[in-house]
Amino acid sequence: MSDCLFCKIAAGEIPVEFVYEDAEVVAFRDINPQAPVHTLVVPRRHIATLNDVQPADAELIGRLYLAAQKIAADAGIAEPGYRTVFNCNAQAGQTVFHLHLHVLGGRAMHWPPG
Ligand code: C5P
Repeated sequence: MSDCLFCKIAAGEIPVEFVYEDAEVVAFRDINPQAPVHTLVVPRRHIATLNDVQPADAELIGRLYLAAQKIAADAGIAEPGYRTVFNCNAQAGQTVFHLHLHVLGGRAMHWPPG
């Protein structure tokens, strides 16, 4: 989508340092980190929300999680642990309507989330 921020970042139209990238996925540090490690894992292809994911996207969703796993290992947070989150729509706090998986770690996480 031409007016989507994360489409522009994924396409390299807005310069952002990628901590991970492959043919289908990019990942970059959150501009407003909520933890010492806070990375966003983003499909290059525009999908607005988790509700818009289709059965044909199953492999892509797996790739997002495998990227998250690598990012966590590279950041040294695989142990003691980290959290992955998709916020879906407004009540969950989604503000950017291009699917993204948050990877949060480097501090103790609370449960239940706020
Ligand atoms: O799940 P949600 O849609 O709220 O997450 C969007 C995330 O994108 C926020 O954590 C926000 O800080 C981040 N963001 C960013 N770079 C931007 C705009 C938003 O990292 N230019």
